[in-house]
Amino acid sequence: MQLSVLYKKITPFVKPYKKMVMATLLLTFLGSFAAQVNALILKFTVDSISNLMVAHEPLSKGFHLLGIISIVLLSKELVYSIVQFGQKFYGEKLRIFITRDISQTIVDKILSYRMEFYTSSENESGKLQTRIDLGISSLTRLVQNFFIDILPLFANAFVALILMFYANVYVGLVSLCIIPIYFYVSQLQASKLSGFRRRMRKYRETKNNGIISLIESISVIKSFVREPMEAKRHQDIQFEMTENQLATRKTSFIFESVKGFIEQIGVVIIIILTAYFVLNNTMTIGAIMFHIMLFNNVSSPIRQLHRIYDEVNDALIYSEGFFDILEADNEKENTGSYIPEKVVGLIEVKHVDFSYPNGTQALWNINFTIKPNETSALVGLSGAGKSTIINLLDKFYMPSAGHIYLDGVDLQEYDTAFLRKNIGLVLQKNHIFKGTVAENILYGNPSASRSEVIEAAKQAYIHEQIIQLPAGYESDAHLLSGGQQQRIAIARLFLKNPPIIFLDEPTASLDAVATEQIKKSLDAIKKDRTVIIISHSISQIIDASNIIVLEKGKCVEKGTHDQLYDNKGIYYDIFTAMANSLNIDKITQTLE
Ligand code: ADP
Repeated sequence: MQLSVLYKKITPFVKPYKKMVMATLLLTFLGSFAAQVNALILKFTVDSISNLMVAHEPLSKGFHLLGIISIVLLSKELVYSIVQFGQKFYGEKLRIFITRDISQTIVDKILSYRMEFYTSSENESGKLQTRIDLGISSLTRLVQNFFIDILPLFANAFVALILMFYANVYVGLVSLCIIPIYFYVSQLQASKLSGFRRRMRKYRETKNNGIISLIESISVIKSFVREPMEAKRHQDIQFEMTENQLATRKTSFIFESVKGFIEQIGVVIIIILTAYFVLNNTMTIGAIMFHIMLFNNVSSPIRQLHRIYDEVNDALIYSEGFFDILEADNEKENTGSYIPEKVVGLIEVKHVDFSYPNGTQALWNINFTIKPNETSALVGLSGAGKSTIINLLDKFYMPSAGHIYLDGVDLQEYDTAFLRKNIGLVLQKNHIFKGTVAENILYGNPSASRSEVIEAAKQAYIHEQIIQLPAGYESDAHLLSGGQQQRIAIARLFLKNPPIIFLDEPTASLDAVATEQIKKSLDAIKKDRTVIIISHSISQIIDASNIIVLEKGKCVEKGTHDQLYDNKGIYYDIFTAMANSLNIDKITQTLE
């Protein structure tokens, strides 16, 4: 990214604080004048004292002079401290405010992105987190350095350079000539280092991601005793990273030495030049000090130039990934504007094809109709496309071809938020948020009263168990068992009260007892709603009034349980396989 592009991108975040920026700039301007006072006073002191010495004036005259100088220096320091405090404080305030705004904007943005964004391999949570963190911290450092370090230093340098020219054009020219050479070397250094930095970013992302996936799959790693293999994999990244780091440092140190040398050449030339002018009687002896101090003011930002380059480069590199996320407007979720008075629940899927963004085609020409207030089951082997259909019905993805209609209107025309408010989703594992049981149920409707929460818990047949917890509804929700958590998810739905419900293997991760316990809650939530259930449980499939059978992304059969069973097709095969796996004969014998 180019600096001008970065500047343009960061401007909207700085704009709201225009007044603060002006105040900081004004203080910086005042500070840069105050910073030159020492050089002027020193020149005046050396010249005055040498005059007194030459004229053999009494000591009292010298004391009088020193008194005045001390008062001027102390007053200047007092003013300078106040100016510096204000300049640093406003600069820091700007940094804090801008960081806050940038961090909030990125959260607002990613929340508005569609599902494809999250499932893309580019945006695995670890990578996303690293890119956001590095982006924010490098931008923050840039803003901070600009207002607190760079700006005052460059303002000082500028004023110092003007004073040098004013005093003596030749000395001014020497200072001026050093600057472009230094700039050139720093730029060379920056371009040499940028490749290293880019690689470093990739290593960091991979490393962070690697640690997250290590933690996530720790039980598999341990069970296969693959710790040495995983450690080796991690070690390889570390070794490559170390090599890269060392190469970066080596290059940096070489350039540092070159720059230090160039700066010293400048100092030497100025000493020789000013001494020559003093001996020539065109300058007073105080001017030597004066010019060296001013050159110091000119060269101090130049000394910092590599750091500034480093940070600007960091910001350019890291903010690239960050702004890619921030500006991924094509990732914004689609929404129509259609908001009906009421959702009835007639769902028609017509000629729908669907491919995931990675190219996997999951559905081919799907057609079916779901009548309102009926429970339909999606049946098929794993990978048949059942969850994909739920994803499309929830508008998480759009069909690649064909249409889905709800109450006769294309899903694409619906206001997405409205649509989702009218759909309840229960997954195999429902997310329980950090917080209390009550807070977790309230997620279904944050404005519900306590009595409504209790009523929802009762409807989901979980109330009795909640009140037996140590702190009742105020207990930590993570204390709940898997089956209880599923019922909390159902209680959430009772509070949300949507007319349409999708249940995606709601009992798959539960044991038999928990499945039995949750059955009552499921039956309760299904009542008087349009329900689509995906399940591998025979009882839940038989209960459905309409069954849609999928095979390898195609809809192969539709009908009631009895019809499909008599058909002796795919459903018959799946059903008998399920029944056989239950060992029904043995079970009936035992129960008899
Ligand atoms: P089911 O729910 O019937 O087990 P899915 O709908 O989950 O099947 O998957 C159908 C097909 O789509 C599978 O081949 C699966 O690998 C693929 N698939 C599912 N999710 C994604 C995804 N996010 N990206 C790419 N392919 C996917």
